Amino acid sequence: MARAHLYGTPVSPGISLGTLHFLHSENFVDRRSIKPEEAAREQALLQGAIDAVREDLAAAREKVPDDLAEYREVIDAQIEMTRDPKLGGAAARRIAEEGICASWALHKTIEELGRIFDAMDDPYLRERAQDIRSVGSRIKGWLTGAAEREAEDADIILAAEDISPADVMDVDLKRIRGILTQEGGPTSHTSILSRGLHIPALVCVTGLRLAAREGDSVIVDGLGGGVLIAPDDRDAQRFKARAAEYADWESSARTMSQWPADTVDGLRVDVMANIERADEAASLEGFGADGIGLYRTEFSFLGRQKPTEESLFEEYREVAEKSPGKAVIRTLDAGADKLLDAQEALKEPNPALGLRGIRYTLRHPDIFRSQLSALLRAGAHLPEGRLSILLPLIDTVEEVRAVKRIMQEISHELTARRIPHAEKLPVGVMVETPAAALIADALARECEFFSIGTNDLIHYLMAIDRNNRHVAYLNQALHPAVVRSLKRIIDAGHREGIRVSACGELSSDPYGIVLLLGMGIDAVSASPSFLPGIKHLIRKLNSQACSELASQLLMSTDISACKHMLNELLQRTLGRELSFHTSTIMGTPA
Ligand code: PEP
Ligand code: MG
Repeated sequence: MARAHLYGTPVSPGISLGTLHFLHSENFVDRRSIKPEEAAREQALLQGAIDAVREDLAAAREKVPDDLAEYREVIDAQIEMTRDPKLGGAAARRIAEEGICASWALHKTIEELGRIFDAMDDPYLRERAQDIRSVGSRIKGWLTGAAEREAEDADIILAAEDISPADVMDVDLKRIRGILTQEGGPTSHTSILSRGLHIPALVCVTGLRLAAREGDSVIVDGLGGGVLIAPDDRDAQRFKARAAEYADWESSARTMSQWPADTVDGLRVDVMANIERADEAASLEGFGADGIGLYRTEFSFLGRQKPTEESLFEEYREVAEKSPGKAVIRTLDAGADKLLDAQEALKEPNPALGLRGIRYTLRHPDIFRSQLSALLRAGAHLPEGRLSILLPLIDTVEEVRAVKRIMQEISHELTARRIPHAEKLPVGVMVETPAAALIADALARECEFFSIGTNDLIHYLMAIDRNNRHVAYLNQALHPAVVRSLKRIIDAGHREGIRVSACGELSSDPYGIVLLLGMGIDAVSASPSFLPGIKHLIRKLNSQACSELASQLLMSTDISACKHMLNELLQRTLGRELSFHTSTIMGTPA
C-alpha cells in the first residue's frame, strides 16, 4: 500500500511499529485495485483459497454422524460449488479484466450469483443463494487468513471499526504492539484496557480501511495521535529517534517513581493505580503506585465461566495483599459497554442509562452478595484499612444505605457459619452522575470516601455516550458544568471530613492534574503506565499556583481561554517534556 498519514485520538501512550491486522475481517472486503502484473498472483491466491476450502469441507463431511447423514448432501453441494466455474472461474476472470484484487473480485461474483439465485421462482434454487454466500465467505476468510498467516510471527497492530474488551483478550496479547479503532472514545473500556496492557492505542481513526490493508507495515504514535501506513526509511528513522527519546524519558520517570509525589511547596498527593486484572497488582510497585485506587472487578464476570464466591475471595485477597498500599475494590459495574450475557438479554434501548453498576447489582443480590461476602472475607486476612469497597453509579443515599444493610446481613451470616471475615470495611461512593454531584454533601455523610469517576461524570453531565465518536467533541473536561461539579464534589467531601480522589481518565491528563490539584484533590488514580509521568509532573508543580489557576478557571466560561491558561502553566513547568504526556483535554476542540 502507498505511504499514508492518518490521525486519531491517542488513548494509550507509547510509539510502536508493527504489521496491521484487521479484526472481524470476515465481513470485510479488501477493495483494492491491482496492476496487470499482479493479476496472476491474485488468481493463484484465489485458487489456493478455493482448494483449501474444498479440503476443509471434505474433512467436515467426514465428521458428520450417521444419524445426520442428510447434512452430507448440503456439504456435497457446497463442495460442488467450489468446482463451479461460475464462481471460481468468473472471479478469476474479473481479477484480470477489472484489475481488482482476489477478495474484491470474489465478493462481486458472489453478489452477482446470489442475486440471480434470489430471483429464481423455485424455492429450492432460491435457497442455493445462501450456500453460495456461505461458501464465498469461507473463501474470503481464507484469503484474509493468507495475509494473516504471512504475518504469523510479526508484531501486530490490531485494527477494527470497534474492538470490545473481549476481542482484545481473544488475541495473543504478547504480539499486539498497537490498537487502532475507528469508533470508541478515550474513556471507552477498550481504551482503558489498552492502557492497562501498556499498548499504544488510538481511537477515532478514520479512513483506515481505505488507506491500509491487511499486512501493511504501520507506525502508531500513541503520544501525538498519528498513524503512518507503509512508512519509508526516513519515517522509520524518525520513528526510532522519537521512540528512543520517549523510552529515555519514561525510564527516568520510572526510576524516580519510587519517591512520593510531593509538590514543590510540599503538598503530598497519593498516586494510585487503576487496574482491570488481578495479575496487574504484583507489578504496581515498578510503576511507583502508592496503592490501588480502583480495581474494576467486572472483567472476571465477563468471561464464559462465572466466578464463584471462593474464587472472588482468593482474587480480592491476592489483589489487596500484592497492592503496594491501600486497595480500593469497586463492586461490579457491568452494563453500558461491559454487558454481561444476562444484561445483553434484557435488550435495553439505552444500556448506558439502564440497569448498570449499582442498579444491576442491587437487583441481582445473588451476584452482589457473593461479591460482598468475598470482600468481607478477604478483609479478615488483611491489616485494617487496607481494603475498601467502592460503589459505582450511585444516584441516591438510599442505594448506599441498602448496600450497607446487605453487608451487615452477610456479616451476621458469616459469623453464624463461623467464617472469618471483617465485620465492616470502609465504603466509598463513586461520584459520577449529575445527581450524585448535586447531593455530594448528603452522600459524603453516608460513606467513608469519595472517588470521582470523571469519565462518566463528564458524559452524563454533557448527555453524551462515551463510546459515540459523533459526540466525542462534547467530551469537554473544561466545560464550566464539569469544572464547577468537580469543585462542588471535592468541597462537599472535605466539609464532611472525607478524602476525595479522582479515578477517571482526567487523572492521567496533565491539564486535568493541574485542575484537580488546584481544587484540593487528595489522590489521583490512573492506569499504571501513566503513574511515573504523573508523579514526575506533580513534583514539578506548585500547589499554590495550581489553586490560583483553578480559581480563575472556575470563574471563566470560555473553554478556549481555560485551555490557554492551563497550557501556559504546563509549558512553563514541563517545556518539551509536555509532548510525552497524552491529553484528551487538549485534543478536544473547544
Ligand atoms: C469513571 O467513570 O470515571 C470511572 C473511573 O469508571 P469507569 O471508567 O470504569 O466507568
Ligand atoms: Mg464510571
